[in-house]
Amino acid sequence: MISSSNPQFWRKQAQLPFAQRITAAPAEVIDYVKQVNARESGSAIEPALTPSINQTDHVSSLNSALLTDIRSAIAELPEQVKAKLEPKLLGVFLATGVGSSAITDVIFDIDGNMLGAIVLLDSNAFLSRTANSWMAWKESSPFNTSAEYTLLANIAEPEQDQRKQALQYLLLHEFGHVLSINTTYLPNWWIGSQKFKDTEEYSFLSICWQIAMNGEIIPLIRHNFEHRSNIIYYSQAQLNASQMLAIYQALSGTGFSTLYAATTVYEDFAESFATYVHVVLMGKPWCIQICHRDQIIFSFSDYWASPRSQQKAKIFEQLFCS
Ligand SMILES: [Zn+2]
Repeated sequence: MISSSNPQFWRKQAQLPFAQRITAAPAEVIDYVKQVNARESGSAIEPALTPSINQTDHVSSLNSALLTDIRSAIAELPEQVKAKLEPKLLGVFLATGVGSSAITDVIFDIDGNMLGAIVLLDSNAFLSRTANSWMAWKESSPFNTSAEYTLLANIAEPEQDQRKQALQYLLLHEFGHVLSINTTYLPNWWIGSQKFKDTEEYSFLSICWQIAMNGEIIPLIRHNFEHRSNIIYYSQAQLNASQMLAIYQALSGTGFSTLYAATTVYEDFAESFATYVHVVLMGKPWCIQICHRDQIIFSFSDYWASPRSQQKAKIFEQLFCS
């Protein structure tokens, strides 16, 4: 969370038309980025997509092309998604040195009143990959690479398989974090476990998770599976590629929409939101395939068409009806 000494800036930001809130990061945000890098913060951070690349020669042209893609990715979202975001999202900012591909955080004034949320994207972690190769790379990241076992992803039809689609998918995930703020779906991520209510008080959390006596949020036994705690995205893979099949088979028996969703309740909400909008509202493809020596041996898809998504689907149906 960010305590801002300049609430006027943010109140003005909230008055801007939604499309104008997508810009290069203002000074206030750049200061914050420096703070984030100096400490372990309570932000919803997705680690770096690619190692930082020094692009100083082309930063401005790169940024303007990226901003164009980001604006267009957001403009193409369903109207009801944008309407839900408008009161909560103060801005989507492009910065450098975020130290991760994206951060979602909340801004308060110095009296502790919440002003809204921001999403920061790192322009150094810009996506040079197309949507499907980016998704395959991201979803392979918990596993050590292997020539024998590989993972394919399909989140965009061939004619739409571009960077913009990858950005849109990544942004939908961040927007899931934004829309979870101050709801009864799950506790706010920055409040500390001593302020958590009981499991049953949270409609989304209680579907697959429980709050243990020590305040830790753990999966219900029927949604847990072997090696789940070794799923680490983006850095220092702890699983072998040969374990992909067993892990995805186990995941198919749980209420999680993606492997990333099984890591924490916060990622569960963000992934559920992103895939619901992407698949159900936008009618786009979503499939992960595991290959052994170029033979497809397992497909993971159709979550939102399966009975195991039923309770979560109800939550999103209600969200977009209200
Ligand atoms: Zn996240």
